[in-house]
Amino acid sequence: MFSKLLVANRGEIAVRIIRACQELGIRTVAVYSEADARALHTLLADEAHLIGPPSPVESYLHAERLIEVALKTGCEAVHPGYGFLAENAAFAETVRAAGLTFVGPPAEAIRLMGDKVAARARMAQADVPVVPGYEGEGDVDEFLAAARALGYPVLVKAAGGGGGRGMRVVAREADLPAALDTARREARNAFGSDRVYLEKYVDRPRHIEFQVLADHHGHVVHLFERECSVQRRHQKIIEESPSPVLDEELRRHMGAAAVAAARAVGYVNAGTVEFLVDAERRFYFLEMNTRLQVEHPVTELVVGVDLVKAQLAIAAGEPLPFTQAELSQRGHAIECRIYAEDPARGFLPATGRVVRAVEPVGPWVRVDAGITTGDTITHYYDPMIAKLIVWGEHRDDALRRMAWALDQYIIMGVTTNITFLRDVVRHPAFQRGDITTDFVERYFVGWRPPDTSVPDEVLIAAALAEQADTPPAVRANHGDSGERAGDPFSPWNVADGFRPGRV
Ligand code: ADP
Ligand code: ADP
Ligand code: MG
Repeated sequence: MFSKLLVANRGEIAVRIIRACQELGIRTVAVYSEADARALHTLLADEAHLIGPPSPVESYLHAERLIEVALKTGCEAVHPGYGFLAENAAFAETVRAAGLTFVGPPAEAIRLMGDKVAARARMAQADVPVVPGYEGEGDVDEFLAAARALGYPVLVKAAGGGGGRGMRVVAREADLPAALDTARREARNAFGSDRVYLEKYVDRPRHIEFQVLADHHGHVVHLFERECSVQRRHQKIIEESPSPVLDEELRRHMGAAAVAAARAVGYVNAGTVEFLVDAERRFYFLEMNTRLQVEHPVTELVVGVDLVKAQLAIAAGEPLPFTQAELSQRGHAIECRIYAEDPARGFLPATGRVVRAVEPVGPWVRVDAGITTGDTITHYYDPMIAKLIVWGEHRDDALRRMAWALDQYIIMGVTTNITFLRDVVRHPAFQRGDITTDFVERYFVGWRPPDTSVPDEVLIAAALAEQADTPPAVRANHGDSGERAGDPFSPWNVADGFRPGRV
């Protein structure tokens, strides 16, 4: 096993990787931007190195700088997490060319699966069903003819797209030419390639994906499914395992297709094969994410495998310690993504200082957070700040536990989607497992948070209690603009009156 590893990421996933390394006795090197000097991942790692200004291009996406830090600090391996450079084939190549181990798949697999058109072609060859579509080599007339054959609505997708971006639903033929132009322009700006293609727009599908693990010795297994149909803007909000709709037979078929997909590209390490499942329970390959995924914890809880440790073991050349037959699903796990965003305002990202964060603690409750009390959330990075994951013997138990845990979760100072999630997990359709990718648009348009305004007399009472409790020396310090008030990190000097250990 490695003795020292560079974590080329930030936020909750960097923290997750650092924790796994700590358990394994691997020393960790964090990298951080100027915006993350006091971030959790920066503080938790054995070493932390400043790599540049807040802008991702100048920091977490700056490949040379990351590799320079890895070499300078004597790291043997680099874990890319998800997002940033995780699915950048050139980065994987550069890491390996520098004599370091990239904790991820071969560059060729990343490159092939990163091109959604090439991936569809390879999957079709391997007899993995793909969403009916048109690969888009021709001119506008050929797009029009293809769309007519597929039947509207169709989806214009960017070959290099990701993160729910680069997709455009087209309902009528008259709108297709303009949609192609806009999609091409957007794709060129966002993904550096203007290649677009068509997919049949599957009506009210479910998003069901399979986790795979492959080692360097030709073993490929799947770790069953995750249902990720609760989405906003084509991005997942809630994930669970098992899926409420798969039966043993469909699960076996989809699992075999996922393994075939991984084999078809010579896959090694952890990856996810995403499928759409339609109302007739037909399934179609959507794409493969060649990295650890945000929602990997639900699989960990149900299958009992630590996926980050598995990634490290695979990267170190170890064979998988289990066969497919030895893997099984036990109980039910649900994950809610905690976003700093306002669900009442079109899920607009929110920024600000986390005045107080209180995470739920209890049996079978897990919080993977990248932030803590006192942290500042900026607009530079992804608004996903934490994940709440629960396990239960049955789906009902997990649902109850999730509702409880969301009620306990307090983040003050920054708008989050927690109150929204409380309503979603209690919604009858969600409770029934009746979830398709249009769930949020169907039931939650116009959602408003409950009125939580506090009466003036309560605020006054709280302020008086606060004042009465504060030691005199500190009170003097508080109003002092001189020397003693100079420590910006002392909790006594926080202007909004926060005290450790008190709500
Ligand atoms: P997952 O597929 O792991 O469930 P997402 O698809 O939401 O999760 O992507 C994982 C992370 O990477 C998110 O933080 C997302 O914003 C980011 N991401 C993935 N692909 C891209 C991309 N092409 N451009 C920008 N961000 C991306
Ligand atoms: P990304 O790379 O951005 O994750 P995906 O191809 O995985 O893109 O699609 C993300 C989401 O967009 C899916 O989970 C689904 O909700 C929706 N989607 C994508 N393709 C289709 C399709 N052909 N029909 C219906 N919905 C789709
Ligand atoms: Mg996807």
